[in-house]
Amino acid sequence: MVEQLKTYGVITSEKVADVIESIDRALFVPDGNVPYYDSPMPIGYNVTISAPHMHATCLQLLEENLQPGMHALDVGSGTGYLTACFALMVGPQGCVVGVEHIPELVSSSIQNIQKGAAAPLLKEGSLSVHVGDGRLGWPEHAPYDAIHVGAAAPEIPQALVDQLKLGGRMVIPVGTIFQELKVIDKNLDGSLSIRDEISVRYVPLTSRDVQLQGV
Ligand code: SAH
Repeated sequence: MVEQLKTYGVITSEKVADVIESIDRALFVPDGNVPYYDSPMPIGYNVTISAPHMHATCLQLLEENLQPGMHALDVGSGTGYLTACFALMVGPQGCVVGVEHIPELVSSSIQNIQKGAAAPLLKEGSLSVHVGDGRLGWPEHAPYDAIHVGAAAPEIPQALVDQLKLGGRMVIPVGTIFQELKVIDKNLDGSLSIRDEISVRYVPLTSRDVQLQGV
């Protein structure tokens, strides 16, 4: 899968290739699915694990902000796949927080992570996953060098902007039917530079009730 993503030019970073190879997707995809197929897959609760090429794209966009010792926030952490990748990148001196609003997904993501290469980081506490409304971020470990949002927001949540460090970067899909993956850099003077990377299709960043109704 990694070779294919390299061939198609999706993965250009060796570090990202290494991390994707270290965290086995098969541990995160529900049984009965083909883990290495480049497509989103249902994980229950009306949501999906993102496709490998989207995970790779987001890791590369955030690579500079996932250096050892840095702080990262994964909003809508779902299966925990990307959360685990972030933790491997920032290492034991860093801090990675996943926030997911479906308690059952938080429990299963912790079990998934425990089976793989990021398990020691979860045990030591540099990686944690919490039940919460990710639109509010997770102030306890802010400010973050990197914020990833795994679900599409109608607009950029202010709480997440506030929790981004000066020099930090957020990658977030924004929109309803038409969505753009936005790359938001917080400059050292506190101003924001925002650009659209690609058009994407993510599940919505919404309330738990709306999501479970499947609206
Ligand atoms: N990166 C994850 C993406 C999962 S899909 C993965 O690849 O596994 C998006 C996730 O966002 C879902 O798990 C959904 O339950 C969660 N989500 C949606 N709105 C949310 C909110 N307001 N707060 C926290 N999580 C949310």
